[in-house]
Amino acid sequence: MAETALIVGAGSGLSAALARLFHKEGMRLALAARRPDKLAALCTQTGARAYACDAAEKAHVDALFKAVEAEIGSPDLVVFNPSHRTRGPIAELDPEEVLKTLTVSCYGGFLVGQQAARLMLKQGHGTLLFTGASASIKGYARSAPFAMGKFGLRGLAQSLARELAPQNIHVAHFVIDGGIRREGDAIVIGAMTTHRTVATSDEVAKAIPALAALAGNIGDRQVRYRGTIGGSLANNDPSACYPAAVLGLGATIKTNKRSIAADEFFQGMFTTALEPDELITEVSFPIPEKAAYVKFPNPASRYAMVGVFVAKTKDGVRVAVTGAGADGVFRHTAMEQALSSSFSADAIKDVKTPEDGMSSDIHASAAYRAHLVGVMARRAVAACG
Ligand SMILES: Cc1cc2nc3c(=O)[nH]c(=O)nc-3n(C[C@H](O)[C@H](O)[C@H](O)COP(=O)(O)OP(=O)(O)OC[C@H]3O[C@@H](n4cnc5c(N)ncnc54)[C@H](O)[C@@H]3O)c2cc1C
Repeated sequence: MAETALIVGAGSGLSAALARLFHKEGMRLALAARRPDKLAALCTQTGARAYACDAAEKAHVDALFKAVEAEIGSPDLVVFNPSHRTRGPIAELDPEEVLKTLTVSCYGGFLVGQQAARLMLKQGHGTLLFTGASASIKGYARSAPFAMGKFGLRGLAQSLARELAPQNIHVAHFVIDGGIRREGDAIVIGAMTTHRTVATSDEVAKAIPALAALAGNIGDRQVRYRGTIGGSLANNDPSACYPAAVLGLGATIKTNKRSIAADEFFQGMFTTALEPDELITEVSFPIPEKAAYVKFPNPASRYAMVGVFVAKTKDGVRVAVTGAGADGVFRHTAMEQALSSSFSADAIKDVKTPEDGMSSDIHASAAYRAHLVGVMARRAVAACG
């Protein structure tokens, strides 16, 4: 017999994609939302039955589970997706709105989790999924209510997972943040996309494998799960890896106000073209013919002591160096010229990198960094194949 899935908080984004997937897998579907009339098209597409439910109301949730059990069958899979978002400076937040955020995310999650668990314990199996956000693991500025709600939801899921796993009920909380999409000849990555998401994206691996590899070698697992492309670029740490990819690929940084070309974006150590109230929303990377990034990592933190991104693009060869310059990431125009004549490691073996302008610290002198730029660049060209 076909399995039954219930999505609470169904809408147009992730939950609709899940509904289509479950339908494709042959599952019977129930979709619940505060305004079920908005689900008409999705119901037609997926054969789902729509239910009205405010997940923050106990009576609604009780009635929903009773109706679904009676009309479609006890759910094998339940997805909890609702959230209410309010944001702003802490001094100006409306406590009523904050309470609503917590009530929907945490209390609603609990109500749905409890009803789902009762039915699943009775039937001896089930899967209960809670949709999170990067705010589930990281509190962003001016977003305390959403972070509180999502942290709480993750706590609920973790606790239920430990309690219910021995009883054959799989509970998970998952984060699908910052979209990655292909747009013509470019890969567009949302600002809040974590390094791990970029590193494991099929879309990125297919189009710009050098970018996926770069993200996969940032710091360690903890850093990759939390660090974001937007944070890394806005921070413009002189040893960060992403600035080399952005400059090396001639990417465009999109903000809530405008588009900024990579060549204009980086303006010195920890300094960018961003205005105080300007937020990066996404980054568009043109897909190169070939590209590679090679870094000499600091043995402790794995930051780039020197990292070189080389790309052969439709507009020519670009070489971007991070970790080495006293003013942060820069383009190595002498190498770009040499590689434009002949794209081979040999072509740059005699190109010198002046020590002047290199950083010098306890990890590496300016002379050593200048030397490493040449070595990393030759390795990167060779890695381009
Ligand atoms: C141990 C360790 C090892 C690391 N190794 C590497 C490495 O090998 N390579 C590397 O590249 N990096 C490395 N990093 C840096 C890491 O990858 C993070 O990207 C970096 O620490 C910034 O953190 P974040 O991405 O969480 O940004 P946040 O800390 O959230 O933000 C940084 C700054 O940018 C601002 N900001 C965030 N998002 C936006 C936005 N969308 N628009 C405008 N401003 C924004 C914030 O307000 C803040 O001022 C390492 C970090 C650590 C702690």
